[in-house]
Amino acid sequence: MLPLVALVGRPNVGKSTLFNALTRTRDALVHDEPGVTRDRHYGVCRPEGQRPFAVVDTGGIAGIDEGLAGATARQARAAAEEADLVLFVVDGREGASALDDEILAWLRKTARPTLLVVNKTDGLDVRAAINDFARYGIRDAIGVSSAHRQGIDELLAEVFARL
Ligand code: GDP
Ligand code: MG
Repeated sequence: MLPLVALVGRPNVGKSTLFNALTRTRDALVHDEPGVTRDRHYGVCRPEGQRPFAVVDTGGIAGIDEGLAGATARQARAAAEEADLVLFVVDGREGASALDDEILAWLRKTARPTLLVVNKTDGLDVRAAINDFARYGIRDAIGVSSAHRQGIDELLAEVFARL
């Protein structure tokens, strides 16, 4: 079985865009409307010269009216719990939010190895964008732009170091 990497985060941070960048497909639904990805969505990342790994794109936790107890959040939780590594995806443009705080709290409970992925850093000072999440105490943080495929190779190196 392939190692499994789960993409977890609130709606609209770019999980599906990152999924597509990793799997080089347009399979995942990318949408401007938060909460579009409803179900768990699996793909395979086959980086050149590296071992492949499976990726699961989860629905945004706390779809507007469901909250953390809703069906989408349950799916994301289940995905995180079975993953070898969780990529906690956040939005570098908007910075840390209350919902990110909540997701972090339950991610800690799952106790899965977690890498913080600060997305949408295109045109930003990447270090400053990451710094906004410093209080999360996740030492392993990386800035990427999934839409522009920036930082994806660095992210892959970090992923492989943990699988
Ligand atoms: P999800 O709800 O977390 O799956 O987020 P999506 O992948 O559907 O993306 C939400 C929105 O953010 C879409 O409009 C994307 O085009 C946009 N987006 C995703 N990644 C990036 C990025 O790296 N940079 C910028 N500027 N926009 C992005
Ligand atoms: Mg999505």
